[in-house]
Amino acid sequence: MPKRISGERACKEVGSRATCAGGTAFADSGSMIRVDLHLHSSYSHDGWASPCEVVERAIAAGLDKIAITDHDEIAGALEARSRYPGQVIVGEEINCGCGTHLIGLFLTERIVPGLSVEETAERIRDQGGVVYAPHPFAYARRPAWHAEQALAVADVVEGFNSRAFFPPWNRKASAAARQRVLPHLASSDAHFPWELGRAYTQMPSFSYAKGFLDSAPYCRSIGLRTGTPFVHVASVLIAQVRRLTGWQPGKTRSSHTSQPAAANQRSVERQPPRAAAGGLDVQKRPIRPQHRYLRTRNQAVKSQG
Ligand SMILES: [Zn+2]
Ligand SMILES: [Zn+2]
Repeated sequence: MPKRISGERACKEVGSRATCAGGTAFADSGSMIRVDLHLHSSYSHDGWASPCEVVERAIAAGLDKIAITDHDEIAGALEARSRYPGQVIVGEEINCGCGTHLIGLFLTERIVPGLSVEETAERIRDQGGVVYAPHPFAYARRPAWHAEQALAVADVVEGFNSRAFFPPWNRKASAAARQRVLPHLASSDAHFPWELGRAYTQMPSFSYAKGFLDSAPYCRSIGLRTGTPFVHVASVLIAQVRRLTGWQPGKTRSSHTSQPAAANQRSVERQPPRAAAGGLDVQKRPIRPQHRYLRTRNQAVKSQG
């Protein structure tokens, strides 16, 4: 039976914010970062943008660190981390044999799909990784059963997934995490760059798995908005086209620049800190305009004001 790492701290809910004894020390340190630990690149069968383009768009959206968690694959995450070592965590969203999804974070080797939930979790921990339960209730069939499977082995839980368009899925996920005293994060599950920034997590800075697990109980989940079922339809269409034609989006459209990771690190450091919001805040505006037309429109609005 896999060992759960996260149960050592006694977390409690203060208002809607998950924190633990001593959490204010972290909150006052000013070292909170914005992370999105569940998103996809073109190395997923239904992904779109190249790994490096994903990182560049995430930095532009105001995120400090991301985990690339392609379906049953880590090659894209390794590619991105080699170029942006400070910003990228290698992850994989693994399809277990029973259909439950588990994410391994801080991986060094690919984990094959089709194993049991318990064995998948064990293989993640054998690598020193973290077991992340994504969208535990967002399944078309037997959602409570899938959630039970994933939460039984999870170190951290996705309490808000921006692709979970049916509101009870996220509500049940965060409630189940609280009940089990597990940290609950918010992630975009972006398959397209324009989905980046719809959800993210603020938490004390970390570099490795141990530091992440120490920081996770102090996290704040920021769910800005959920998408519509359209994003799933688009992903299915892309997967079908790719399967039938062999087309590989992103791999030929990489926006690799000659700017190395250090330059992007500086750009991240220049970004002003944003006001922290407690708990799962559903806000109306994205954290940063993703597209040029949005920036132009915002500037126009400002100049009119
Ligand atoms: Zn999934
Ligand atoms: Zn996913």
